[in-house]
Amino acid sequence: MTSTVVAIDGPSGVGKSTVAQRAAARLGLTVLDTGAMYRAIGLACLRAGVDLEDEPAVMAVAEGLDIDLRPGKAGQLEVVLDGEPVGQHIRTPAVSDATSRISSYPGVRRRMVSLQRQVATRRGVVVEGRDIGTVVFPDTPHKFFLTATSLVRARRRLADLAASGHRTSLEEVLADIEARDGRDSSRQDSPLRCDDSYQVIDTSDISIEQVVDRVVRGVAAVAAPSVATP
Ligand code: C5P
Repeated sequence: MTSTVVAIDGPSGVGKSTVAQRAAARLGLTVLDTGAMYRAIGLACLRAGVDLEDEPAVMAVAEGLDIDLRPGKAGQLEVVLDGEPVGQHIRTPAVSDATSRISSYPGVRRRMVSLQRQVATRRGVVVEGRDIGTVVFPDTPHKFFLTATSLVRARRRLADLAASGHRTSLEEVLADIEARDGRDSSRQDSPLRCDDSYQVIDTSDISIEQVVDRVVRGVAAVAAPSVATP
C-alpha cells in the first residue's frame, strides 16, 4: 500500500457514505464507495435478466462488463458501467436486493477487490464497504466500524429513499435491511465482520458531525500519536 487508506465498514443504512464524504473532505482524500461498484454489477444482472441464484450466469455477465472509476463531484470516484455513469440507477430497492445476492460470489468479489486496491496505489482514499478493513486493506491502521440499531438505520434509509422519490414503508425498509444484513454477515467469502483492529462508533444517538469528528481525530491520532508527558 503506498497511500493513506481510511477503511469505513458497517451494515446497510448506517451512514457510511455521508461520513466517508465529509471525513474525506476534511482529510483531503478521495472517496471510494465500494457498495456502488457491487451495485453496478447488480444493476447489469437485472438488466440482463439473469437468474441471480445462477452463479455461472452472473459471473458471465460480470466478466463481460467494463467497470471504470472516474473522478466525479465532491471528491468522489464515480462508477462508470460500459461507458455510462451509473448515477441514481443503482439506488433502487430492487438493485439493493440483487446486489446483496450477487456480492456473495467469490469471482465477483475478486474482480472488485482488485480494482479497489489499484485505486489506492494512485491516491489517498476513504474506502467504505463491508470488508475493507478485514480483506481489501487489512494492513491499514485507520479502520472504523459504524453501528446503529436496525430501526435507526431503517428510518434513515426511508428518509433517503423518500428524498430521491422512492415511496415505501418503514416495515418494508426494515425487512430489506435485516435481510441484507443477514446475507452480508453470513456469506462464506468476506462476510461483514468487526474485530479488534477497528475503532467502533455507535452512531445511534450521535450526530453525523460527531461521527465525522471521531473519524478525523482517529486518523490524526494514528498519523501523529501524542506522546504522554511524564
Ligand atoms: O453499501 P451499499 O448498501 O451500497 O452496498 C450494497 C451491497 O453491496 C451490500 O448489501 C453488500 O451486499 C454489497 N457490498 C459488499 N462488499 C462491499 C460493499 C458492498 O458485499 N465492500
